[in-house]
Amino acid sequence: RPSLVFDNVVFGYDPDRTILHGLSFEVPAGGQFAIVGPSGAGKSTIARLLFRFYDPWQGRILIDGQEITGVTQESLRAHIGIVPQDSVLFNDTIGYNIGYGRGGASSDDVLAASRDAAILPFIERLPKGFDTEVGERGLKLSGGEKQRVAIARTLVKNPPILLLDEATSALDSRTEQDILRTLKRVSEHRTSLSIAHRLSTIADADRILVLDHGRLAEQGTHGQLLSAR
Ligand code: ADP
Ligand code: ADP
Repeated sequence: RPSLVFDNVVFGYDPDRTILHGLSFEVPAGGQFAIVGPSGAGKSTIARLLFRFYDPWQGRILIDGQEITGVTQESLRAHIGIVPQDSVLFNDTIGYNIGYGRGGASSDDVLAASRDAAILPFIERLPKGFDTEVGERGLKLSGGEKQRVAIARTLVKNPPILLLDEATSALDSRTEQDILRTLKRVSEHRTSLSIAHRLSTIADADRILVLDHGRLAEQGTHGQLLSAR
């Protein structure tokens, strides 16, 4: 049974302007899918619908077979771990930020939770220790360090679905590729959906959906999409 289904979803913010024009796709359990498309294509709108900031005008969104119109935002948040482009961290230590929500903030708590979630390789590649203060909004860290902490904070909760919404798009490509490599090691069997505007960000996805003006323009693997150009 697919983990995530968009079934003919029609949606717009204003009554006279449709943004998603009957969008359909299915992400199988354990699948690593990606959505690319130019700015304004409707990528973030998909994320907003997934968390029920809005409901579709028409069509259905299903998670693990259940239509989400009957699901609270709170339980959606427990089911889908999202990492946005500009994560806001708590003005505390790295350990506190990662342990937050898992009932503990000591190094031992974080390591135990990381072991449970099978993400130790990601935690071990954090460039700074758990005791490091992140500062106001995480400003004492570099952009890459901040996003690593934000991704770790989400992974440690072991959400059934991981949603990366331009999570590495603001970083230089070397930092991005470094994070993605480590992420891949701990996400082999995790259902994930990565939203990005650069094809290189999501080159490793099982399947890439190309969104254009709220419609699926093409889909395939990275290799298939490149050879179609
Ligand atoms: P498309 O350009 O893809 O045909 P439309 O703008 O015709 O998209 O809208 C598709 C469907 O969305 C229509 O059949 C209509 O029933 C529904 N729809 C359009 N606007 C609204 C709205 N403001 N509220 C609810 N449903 C709407
Ligand atoms: P993307 O993430 O692909 O850049 P978005 O999903 O953010 O695209 O936006 C798709 C379209 O919806 C854009 O034309 C944008 O201007 C419009 N849009 C986004 N948010 C709103 C909103 N809150 N109210 C009205 N229009 C919006």
